[in-house]
Amino acid sequence: MNVAFIGLGVMGYAMAGHLSKGGHQVNVYNRTTAKAESWVDEYEGQFSLTPAEAAKGADIVFVCVGNDQDLNQVVCEANGVLEGMVAGSVLVDHTTASADIARHIAAKAAELEIGFLDAPVSGGQAGAENGVLSVMVGGDDASFSKVSPVMDCYSKSISLLGPVGSGQLAKMVNQICIGGLLQSLSEAVHFAKCSGLDAEQVFDVIQHGAAGSWQMVNRHQTMIEGQYDFGFAVDWMRKDFSIVLDEARKNGARLPVTAMVDQFYADVQAMGGGRMDTSSLLKRLENDK
Ligand code: NAP
Repeated sequence: MNVAFIGLGVMGYAMAGHLSKGGHQVNVYNRTTAKAESWVDEYEGQFSLTPAEAAKGADIVFVCVGNDQDLNQVVCEANGVLEGMVAGSVLVDHTTASADIARHIAAKAAELEIGFLDAPVSGGQAGAENGVLSVMVGGDDASFSKVSPVMDCYSKSISLLGPVGSGQLAKMVNQICIGGLLQSLSEAVHFAKCSGLDAEQVFDVIQHGAAGSWQMVNRHQTMIEGQYDFGFAVDWMRKDFSIVLDEARKNGARLPVTAMVDQFYADVQAMGGGRMDTSSLLKRLENDK
C-alpha cells in the first residue's frame, strides 16, 4: 500500500521502518527534517517537508506525535494531513492522546469521507524496534479491516475495542495499571536493598512467581543499578496521567493511587528527571532517605 508516517520519534522511527521492510511504499514527515533524512538513509522510502505533502496519494496515514496539541497541529491545521488525504483513505493515530481529540478528529475526517482509528500502543521503544507492539484500537470495522494487516508489520497484538475513543480509553487503563505497579516495584527494590539481601538474586526468583510483571522482568536490573537514562519518559507519563485523571473526573472513576503516583512523578521532574524512565520512582525513594 501507499502509506505515510508522520512523527519519527522514539516510536515512529522504528514503526515506519517496519512498514518499509514489510514492502509498503512509505512517505515520512518529521518536524525536524534531519531525522527524516536519516530515516531515508536507513530504509526504502521518501520524505516530505509537510504532513499534507506526505499524505498525498496515501491509502493510510499513520501519526505518532507527542500530545493532543501536536496531533491537532499535524492533522487539522494548515499543511496538516487532512489537506493531503483523499476520500476513502484512513487516518490512524498512534499518539497517546485524549479520547476527546480522537472524537474531534474522527468528526473532521468523516466530513471528508476519510476513516479514522485511534490506535495508541504499548510495548515501549523495544516493542517498536522489535515490531511487537500491542495496539488498542477505537473506530469502525471497515477501517480496522483495511489497516490491521498493515499494522501487523510492527505489532504482536491488535484489537478493535469499540467506537472511536475506545483505543485511548484502553490505553488509560494500561497506564493506571503501570503507575501503582511501578511504585510498588520501587518500594520492593528499595526494601530489598535496605534489608541487606542480594536484590538481583531476589528478583531473579520472584519474577517467575505471582509477583512477576513486565516491569519487574524488564526493569528490576536497571533499577538496582540506578540506570534511568532510557525507556518511557516521566514527562510522557505525567502527560498520560493528566489525560487519565481528566477522563476520571468526567466518568466518576476513583483513582487515589494514580493521583498520588502522579505527584511522585512531579517530585522526579523537580529532581531534574523528566526524561528519565518511569522506573525512576525508586530514585525518589532513595533521595528521601
Ligand atoms: P518522541 O521521541 O518525543 O517523538 C515525538 C515525535 O513527535 C517527534 O517526531 C516530534 O518531532 C514529533 N512532534 C511533536 N510535536 C510535534 C508538532 N507540534 N508538530 C510536528 N511534529 C511534532 O516521542 P515517542 O516516545 O516516540 O512517543 C510518541 C507517542 O507515543 C507519545 O504520545 C507517547 O506517549 C507514546 N508512547 C511512547 C512510548 C515510549 O516508550 N516512548 C510507549 C508507548 C506510547 P521532532 O523530532 O521534530 O521533535
